[in-house]
Amino acid sequence: MSETPQNPAAQNSTQPRVVIVTGGSRGLGAGIVESYLASGDLVAACARSVTPEVERWRTEHPDRFFFATADLSKSADAKAFVDAVVERWDRVDVLINNAGVARDGILGMATDEDIDVVVDLNIKGTLYMSRLVSRRMLARRSGSIVNISSIVGRSGYRGLGVYSATKAALDGLTRSMARELGSRGITVNGIAPGYLRTEMSHGLDEGQMGQIERRTPAGRLGEPVDVARVCQFLTDPAGSYLTGQVLVVDGGLTS
Ligand code: NAP
Repeated sequence: MSETPQNPAAQNSTQPRVVIVTGGSRGLGAGIVESYLASGDLVAACARSVTPEVERWRTEHPDRFFFATADLSKSADAKAFVDAVVERWDRVDVLINNAGVARDGILGMATDEDIDVVVDLNIKGTLYMSRLVSRRMLARRSGSIVNISSIVGRSGYRGLGVYSATKAALDGLTRSMARELGSRGITVNGIAPGYLRTEMSHGLDEGQMGQIERRTPAGRLGEPVDVARVCQFLTDPAGSYLTGQVLVVDGGLTS
């Protein structure tokens, strides 16, 4: 029986991949950028502002790292960013839809702006990027997309209703896109992290942190590298039979 992989990218796996990481300026996105730079890939990241990490990668990897400022809640910014990546490297092999935002507070007290900011980036921004990049991937009949979701999209969380709704929406998008693109050699998966040590979790006080650690079988909060490793696994060109799944990466918290 032949063991030839079906994904054309797998036959060309010595070529560096072109990887887009949205929100790749800090937090989890920075950990994902580091991981793909370490695996020798060409990495394009965007966010609304430049950070010291971005400055360092620009200096250390001038030919393999590209960064542009973009507000992905705006369709025109998403298009300009993808166009710039394709102009530079001619293709996109991997898209990590990581940029996301949360606003704390019970739904009854949320303003229109609180709702718009979270929905416009988490859902609409991910839709804009996935639409633009999947068109390019369809033309090449290969690629991998990973949507960064959250365990609260499944379990819910008091004070994070809007955010939870957007993450549940992403899981639906993951499954639909996997069905649309599977026959064209493109995989689409999601990752639902638990609590990570990033700026987004800085709102948790020490009591809440301690409680999460005690309830987590792994005994600690997650680090960006824990999720970055799973991104690498899900975007391995040889992994063309794994699609339409949302993997929970939470140290066993919701097991
Ligand atoms: P973070 O530290 O707040 O980083 C968010 C990133 O997104 C930054 O690079 C930020 O840069 C960028 N960003 C924010 N608004 C943007 C916009 N409108 N357009 C483009 N980029 C934008 O968050 P994180 O903790 O790393 O979270 C990353 C992802 O993991 C999110 O999708 C989040 O929902 C998910 N997640 C996080 C946790 C956690 O515990 N931290 C748990 C589960 C899931 P700028 O602000 O400069 O734009």
